[in-house]
Amino acid sequence: MQLPKSRRRQKLREKKCQYPGCGKVFYGIHISKYCTEHRQDRYRIRKRSRPENVNIKNQTIQHPYTEVTITVMPCHLEGCNNQFEVKLYPRQFVYPKYCGEHRNEFKRIRHLQLIGREDLIEQMKRDGDSTEIEYTTVGDAVADDSDVIEEVA
Ligand SMILES: [Zn+2]
Ligand SMILES: [Zn+2]
Repeated sequence: MQLPKSRRRQKLREKKCQYPGCGKVFYGIHISKYCTEHRQDRYRIRKRSRPENVNIKNQTIQHPYTEVTITVMPCHLEGCNNQFEVKLYPRQFVYPKYCGEHRNEFKRIRHLQLIGREDLIEQMKRDGDSTEIEYTTVGDAVADDSDVIEEVA
């Protein structure tokens, strides 16, 4: 029988990815800052780059879920019909608003150029393009002023 040798194994805890606009919850040791995806080199944040307004890439979804729930959202980019899965986490309300293909600003600009909407490029850069979605649960309309019908045996 083998006993685990290492007693110094670090405890994994729930961490939130620090990558701008990600906020994904993952399990890592206390010094981990990024989710597995954003630990990759190509995501390394260069200190010199300008801080980006998170709302450009994100939307606030006011959802009522208390468990991780997967929902499908349409890409917010004009002329893109892609839908993408968003994992909703309890008490987390900021999520990406573009499909995987358009998370990158360069690609959004290219797409807008292709469909001839240069005007939207300026707009996107100017106002941060923040979106809020009020999530209402379907079937939540429990009327509390309705008469309570008691079952009679
Ligand atoms: Zn991340
Ligand atoms: Zn898209």
